[in-house]
Amino acid sequence: AKKMGKNRYVFYNDELEKRRIRTAWIEQHLYTAISNGEISVYYQPIVDLHTKEIFGLEALARWKHPKSGFIPPSEFIQVAENNGLIIPIGTFVMETAAKDLRNLHNSGFDHLYISINLSLKQLKHPEFIQRIISLPEKYQLKPEHFQFEITETVALFEDPDLVRIIHQLKNRQFRIAIDDFGKGFSSIGYLKQIAVDTIKIDKSYVFDICSNEETAKLTNAIIAMANFLQLKIIAEGVELSEHVRFLNKHQNVLGQGYYFSRPIPFDQMNDFLQKHTTA
Ligand code: C2E
Ligand code: CA
Ligand code: CA
Ligand code: CA
Repeated sequence: AKKMGKNRYVFYNDELEKRRIRTAWIEQHLYTAISNGEISVYYQPIVDLHTKEIFGLEALARWKHPKSGFIPPSEFIQVAENNGLIIPIGTFVMETAAKDLRNLHNSGFDHLYISINLSLKQLKHPEFIQRIISLPEKYQLKPEHFQFEITETVALFEDPDLVRIIHQLKNRQFRIAIDDFGKGFSSIGYLKQIAVDTIKIDKSYVFDICSNEETAKLTNAIIAMANFLQLKIIAEGVELSEHVRFLNKHQNVLGQGYYFSRPIPFDQMNDFLQKHTTA
């Protein structure tokens, strides 16, 4: 038993060491990733589940290293938040998304909005907020053509600075969505207070709605509550027709997921829209 314990300890150490090396590699290579043109933006449609009409596009950062290939955001976004690179990366994502949306509006898709992920670090960066505020004029778009997705955390509700910044954006008519709803703190009541207008139900709920009775009930309750508070709802991780059927029992639920499209580069999204919209 002693030996096993020791082995486990060694194994644990190994894993930690591997992760440390990986993080160091990411950190080292992320510094030049933007200037080397390795970062790009992919788009995934946000769709009306009843009419299949496309309302918006979520912008998702992609990093393709010339030798190592795609590094998933789940690995590099956290590193970027810790060392501050999330600011230049976030700026690149936002400016690229705004430019691409301008192009889509020029092609006649002028009802579309773009949805951009923000971490708390970005929200707390005054120059970054100034840049957000200058976007509509810079790209001749309206504030409502921009949605900002903020992940639900306790910090969001307890930090008066964050609440103030969100209000500031909301007052300027930007859309504010709470991302990964249900995964964390999950107090719908609070959302109304901080001027959120949309919740994105975390994909872990949607994955289970057809196989887990409890999850199904909980999801129905979240949707009913959100409707009551006049919050818009986007369900993430819609992969199967059964998911669509389940969610379609409700009105006013938008969906996003592989069932409609994976995140794809701008050129492909342009083609996708031409095919799927009667503009
Ligand atoms: P998220 O904001 O929850 O984004 C949705 C994630 O779910 C994306 O992962 C997307 O590719 C994935 N997804 C979409 N539909 C489906 C589906 O039907 N099934 C499954 N299994 N997955 C689906 P991705 O692109 O790997 O991004 C991971 C996370 O990285 C994002 O989660 C977001 O929190 C963060 N992220 C990505 N881009 C940015 C960015 O520009 N800025 C910031 N701050 N965070 C970003
Ligand atoms: Ca998101
Ligand atoms: Ca997110
Ligand atoms: Ca999410």
